[in-house]
Amino acid sequence: MLYQRSSALFKEAQEVIPGGVNSPVRAFKAVGGTPIFAKSAKGAYVYDEDGNRFIDYINSWGPMLLGHAYPPVVEAVVEKTKSGTSFGMPTAIETEIAELAVSMVPNIDKIRFVNSGTEACMSAVRLARGYTGKDKIIKFAGCYHGHSDSFLIAAGSGAVTFGTPNSPGVTQGTAKDTLLAKYNNLENVKELIEANEENLAAIIVEPVAGNMGCIPPVEGFLEGLRTLCDANNMLLIFDEVMTGFRLAKGGVQELKGVDADIVCFGKVVGGGLPVGAFAARNAIMNHLAPQGPVYQAGTLSGNPLAMAAGLAMLKSINSDQDLFKRLDDKTKYLHKGIAEALNRYGITHTINRIGSMISVHFHEDSVIDFDTAANGNNDQFKRFFHSMLKQGIYIAPSAFETWFITDALSYEDLDETIKAVEVFAKSEA
Ligand code: PMP
Repeated sequence: MLYQRSSALFKEAQEVIPGGVNSPVRAFKAVGGTPIFAKSAKGAYVYDEDGNRFIDYINSWGPMLLGHAYPPVVEAVVEKTKSGTSFGMPTAIETEIAELAVSMVPNIDKIRFVNSGTEACMSAVRLARGYTGKDKIIKFAGCYHGHSDSFLIAAGSGAVTFGTPNSPGVTQGTAKDTLLAKYNNLENVKELIEANEENLAAIIVEPVAGNMGCIPPVEGFLEGLRTLCDANNMLLIFDEVMTGFRLAKGGVQELKGVDADIVCFGKVVGGGLPVGAFAARNAIMNHLAPQGPVYQAGTLSGNPLAMAAGLAMLKSINSDQDLFKRLDDKTKYLHKGIAEALNRYGITHTINRIGSMISVHFHEDSVIDFDTAANGNNDQFKRFFHSMLKQGIYIAPSAFETWFITDALSYEDLDETIKAVEVFAKSEA
């Protein structure tokens, strides 16, 4: 494959945009080579500026659950645009999508829409602090909750890919209020709580981690966090930016039967437009301005185009009884095919999967937390990434990311992907 135009565009972009990109992982820095400049996308495929076609397993990092340029979303946005793109006034569609979201997700009465997952998580923590009157939070190493200061402490995703899990610019004062625990390790959380009992506002967790590859919670982990929060007057915040409306209509709360106090959303809820949201029961949400004292706002929050895209997306998800079964079946098929191809050539690996999230780790032990995720063979991952890319398969350019399976993938696409894995495996044997 030739990437002449992408190379030229990247060179030009680097002159005027830091690193040539508006979000770090896009730069391919961890795997080397030139990032591909997208020109268009449809269904399961993305097309670059050089005319190459890729089967897409990134899917805009999650939002495109039903495929690119999904007709109901495109039509809703095009239609909405004709009557104005932003008002800074309340609109009926905001209530419509809020009602639908509240009906789909367990254990929430009210939802506030923002513009990104970062904003959702940042606001959720402020709300938890305002509600409890306490300062500190516990987060898990390798979890990523966006780039607001409190979360850039042992953060996953791009932060760890670039070796800056603790970013310069985050003050000591902020960092001291974020305590770090090991994912899937309740004992570790208990120790932190015992040492900081009086001043702990919340635990924030990806209830299925997706930012150190995909790491599902071990049996009892989420239930244990729930119990610890109840016993210590702390709120449990589920960051469902990746998992919300993806793993089930009601996200991980529904899937695992564990209630969170505040839930954060992003990605799928915006159907590919910039949307985030956070939600809770009335007792908590009524603390938010203008009803309560905890301030949070946004010029473009609840933007009509974003709401139209999100509403079309949620309606499709809500009305499709087989969607999650189909996604699960496709991802299982892929899992089995990849495992067989790698095993055939003796390539050591671990595959983590839950619903439509999957990641391949070049590492023989179970991957259950950041330390085990970081033990993978990164050089082999780089070769894997480039082999797949050359064969027209676009996976995340970092070992610390999840593949997002879309319903638009056909079994032929999955077979093509498995064949590509086999070619890679053979070249490594
Ligand atoms: N939380 C999680 C779990 C995420 O995966 C992400 C983004 N990958 C965020 C928060 C931040 O969302 P955004 O990039 O929309 O700010």
